[in-house]
Amino acid sequence: MQIKILGSAAGGGFPQWNCNCRHCESLRAGTFSGKSRTQTQVAISNDGRAWFLLNASPDLRLQIEATPALHPRNAGRDSPIAGVLLTSGDIDQIAGLLSLRELQPFRIYCTASIRRILGEDNSVFAMLNRVPEQVSWMEIGSDETFPLLTLTGDGSGISCTVFSLGSRYPVYVSRERRASLKPEEALLGVIVTSSSGKYLAYMPAVPALDDSLLQRLEESDLLLFDGTFWSDDELIQVQGSGSTARQMGHIPVSGAEGSLRKLAGLRRPRKVFVHINNTNPMLDESGPQYREVRAAGWEIAADGWSLEL
Ligand SMILES: [Zn+2]
Repeated sequence: MQIKILGSAAGGGFPQWNCNCRHCESLRAGTFSGKSRTQTQVAISNDGRAWFLLNASPDLRLQIEATPALHPRNAGRDSPIAGVLLTSGDIDQIAGLLSLRELQPFRIYCTASIRRILGEDNSVFAMLNRVPEQVSWMEIGSDETFPLLTLTGDGSGISCTVFSLGSRYPVYVSRERRASLKPEEALLGVIVTSSSGKYLAYMPAVPALDDSLLQRLEESDLLLFDGTFWSDDELIQVQGSGSTARQMGHIPVSGAEGSLRKLAGLRRPRKVFVHINNTNPMLDESGPQYREVRAAGWEIAADGWSLEL
């Protein structure tokens, strides 16, 4: 299975359009020891022909253009993108669907709750179903294993197991709608299984780590994990106000209960942080946090990476 990291930043990207923090400012000035990043986006394929997107980032159009494997191959309108798996209804995970609205057929795999939010409350997504042969919605449960299908409905060689990681819906979802949705369908973790039996664990947003999740992670071969914030109060330190990492649904990387410490015992998977916020000090490759992460055996994903499982 091929895995392409098209984007590796958290929402807003790096630099973020309205941010003049030390990182964003020095990156624009060309003095930052690190890389710019688009918003987190991953694409996977078992055969190099049919590709599947894990979520759909706001930067998707540029990310597709930067990735020749995702370009059209046949004359006229064409795309090797056969499907999109949504792990939540967050704007950073769904906005890219609007860049896929040009009457192209593909499948969207998501929970019934996310489909209701997109299909019943946000009419702009009706552009994905203007003609009968356009998007097929594949409703998945919050604890289910299912195959990813090619455009012709054949197995792609890839299957996914999803499970609930959290119960919080995005703030744009109305209180009334939230009350009618299943809490366990708000945020999914995904284990992607390749035809060779290797496991990719994809979790760009992890609100909490318990023993059952740790067990799933230990069974994976490649872990793409929430690296949004270094510390719980990071945004408050930079902005002077705001929410903590945990309030935003992300366990921080550092600290006694952070992911570096909690996942230190994992022996099997290659460990890679994705979804890194522009304020996270581990983006600075000349700094101590970057060295600490690398010394702990973790990698920090960058846009354009290609991995194999
Ligand atoms: Zn910034």
